[in-house]
Amino acid sequence: MSKRKLTKQQKSRISQKQQLLKQCSEDSNQELTSYLARVISVYGVQTLLAPIGADEKTSIPSTTDNNIKAHVRQNIGSIVPGDKVLFKKPPQGGNVVVSRLDRTSLLSRRDSRNQDKPLAANLDHIFICVSPSPAPAVDTVDRYLIGAELAQIDASIIINKIDLLTEKEEKEKFLENYRIYEKLGYSVIKTSLYEKETIEILKQTLKNKKSVLVGPSGVGKSSIAQALIPDESINVGSISHHKDRGKHTTTTARWYDLPSGGHLIDSPGIRAFQVEHLSVADIARGFVDFNRFRAKCKFHNCSHLHEPGCAVKIALEKGEINPRRYAIYRQWVNEASM
Ligand code: GDP
Ligand code: ZN
Repeated sequence: MSKRKLTKQQKSRISQKQQLLKQCSEDSNQELTSYLARVISVYGVQTLLAPIGADEKTSIPSTTDNNIKAHVRQNIGSIVPGDKVLFKKPPQGGNVVVSRLDRTSLLSRRDSRNQDKPLAANLDHIFICVSPSPAPAVDTVDRYLIGAELAQIDASIIINKIDLLTEKEEKEKFLENYRIYEKLGYSVIKTSLYEKETIEILKQTLKNKKSVLVGPSGVGKSSIAQALIPDESINVGSISHHKDRGKHTTTTARWYDLPSGGHLIDSPGIRAFQVEHLSVADIARGFVDFNRFRAKCKFHNCSHLHEPGCAVKIALEKGEINPRRYAIYRQWVNEASM
């Protein structure tokens, strides 16, 4: 028997039927319930979702399933760990993320093409980690702080490895460097992996917060994260990528529920902030030290460097602004305007 050849008309009819089937499945998807979930991690167009915790009041039904793999619908833009999304469960299987809720905050990174690349969403606290060894550069904390200020996320400082500060004088001298930040209103928390009570205090601090640990390499961020999430095996893998600052950084970003309460995002990509691309206005805005004074400057767009009637410079002369912080400000502004 010879193979039946399809006529043009038949082909067209089949194609129409396929179209109709596709449409039907999309329409039926529209009637499906939308569930609210949190993005744990993202791998291309695939994402791992988790139920939104009971602590977060919502009128949208939240899923009770764990570790939901879902496909991200293309038209909804980029999705990052920490995002809240709505997803549907089509009868033919495979979960589909259909929309993203508004973000309360977004941390981004400048990529090599000078584009902002979103890394993590909905964080509400940045913990800047430093240690006596490796000792931070003179403006390390300031760099992270301006990043936090511009992202409008609260910040605190963790001084880790305090066990290394065995000599009283040396300890005092090191801690003295951080008094300025306390005066500016930032909390300074001292921790050591070898002093369990300090980690307990940190756990209490992290409760009810959506946090990220940032800071230079070697200060103990992975060790702290591991101490906070001892059972998380993936944690070790993703966190150990921290020396690999290459292309994989975004794919390893991950959102964790802390057993002691609160949430932690780990992403090697968010561990550093660059100030090089900032405008003079952004730099000035990021210095909370100037908040009390800037409105009194004669010029509304004052750079606080050389203008007459600059309230920031007057405050500096009166000792109301820390000279080291001002020197850092001046240096960054000069670099920015070059
Ligand atoms: P990260 O690069 O910031 O993630 O730092 P790691 O967590 O990899 O830690 C770097 C080194 O510091 C490791 O050898 C840790 O064992 C060590 N370390 C971490 N926390 C402490 C601490 O509280 N005290 C001391 N003495 N060493 C620590
Ligand atoms: Zn000024």
